Amino acid sequence: MKYLDEYRDAEAARKFADAIARITTRSWTIMEVCGGQTHAIVKFGIDQLLPDKITLLHGPGCPVCVTPLELIDKALDIAARPEVIFTSFGDMLRVPGSHADLLSVKAAGGDVRMVYSPLDALKLAQQNPGKQVVFFAVGFETTAPANAMAVYQAAQQGVENFSILVSHVLVPPAIEAILSSSTNRVQAFLAAGHVCVVVGYEEYLPLAQKYGVPFVVTGFEPVDILQGIYMTVRQLEEGRAEVENQYARAVRREGNVPAQQIIREVFEVVPRKWRGIGSIPHSGLGLRAAYADFDAEKRFGLGELTVEEPSACISGLVLQGVKKPNQCPAFGMLCTPEHPLGATMVSSEGACAAYYRYRRQEVLSSQSLVLSPENSAAGLQLPGASQPLVIGEGDE
Ligand code: SF4
Repeated sequence: MKYLDEYRDAEAARKFADAIARITTRSWTIMEVCGGQTHAIVKFGIDQLLPDKITLLHGPGCPVCVTPLELIDKALDIAARPEVIFTSFGDMLRVPGSHADLLSVKAAGGDVRMVYSPLDALKLAQQNPGKQVVFFAVGFETTAPANAMAVYQAAQQGVENFSILVSHVLVPPAIEAILSSSTNRVQAFLAAGHVCVVVGYEEYLPLAQKYGVPFVVTGFEPVDILQGIYMTVRQLEEGRAEVENQYARAVRREGNVPAQQIIREVFEVVPRKWRGIGSIPHSGLGLRAAYADFDAEKRFGLGELTVEEPSACISGLVLQGVKKPNQCPAFGMLCTPEHPLGATMVSSEGACAAYYRYRRQEVLSSQSLVLSPENSAAGLQLPGASQPLVIGEGDE
């Protein structure tokens, strides 16, 4: 398949891995921002092909994972109402709120439906004039154009029973939050190719200059990622901090201008809370005043909520690249895809889900070495655990 097979070619991948090893003289820490890239890295063992001096950190680029608990609880509240048809992409249905998920609302009788496009939700609203149809608008810049278009069309066509629950987040402000954090270890970024397809990559230029870090816009196949890492390491080794484009077959510097126009027509930049990270200024999209009638939070009169994250879950640290999923004491024991504690274990782009799917045995056997009853009794502590983990009967 053109543009796919050649980017999964083992020989090409090996050549890039060898080239990276040849040019690496010092230790470097690079963050891949996107959860899709994280999955490819773990699935194809790309991190294991790299020299020990290169550390890859997984970033906050999984929109499902960073949707705040409060918004999921609001979605649950709306979805349980008898007058509502609540629609969402499939990956939000199993993400735990503070007490349930959307699938349990459906099991209890709520009309919750999976759709493949916000325009399908708009069609449902037209077909069901006696119902309120709500779409859970989650995502980065990638899903924003289609969601904006659905609202724009609803306004043009006078569809009054359609609204969206907005949880849109923007990548560059999150990167800036990581770079300005006192715990930051990231020296370079693989920027997410699909986000740059929409917005281009000019927004990264000031970040590269201000913080002295290289950015390489990178695709999602193994050879894409290895080439992206090669270009990143070459910049680091040469002392450059520029924005380069590995994913030139899809990304133009200026991005997709009509897509940006529809985003700007319907949405404005707002502060947004990121699950596990906290509030980041200018990091989200909200509906402009002209489209406020389509805001589900306003339509259903939902006020402010504050909800605590489960204390056993360190997904906030995972999303910031401070910890890896294999450093979470709950991984694979208290937390599995069937019984997730955090969104990073649910989403198809979540880092914990990637480790569970592709590295479970490896992680669990390394943890069981640390978690032997003798070690536990001796008070030894797993990385990431605030308390020594005590193994009870039946936990092993
Ligand atoms: S493994 Fe589960 S509990 Fe641990 S950080 Fe990931 S989602 Fe949270």
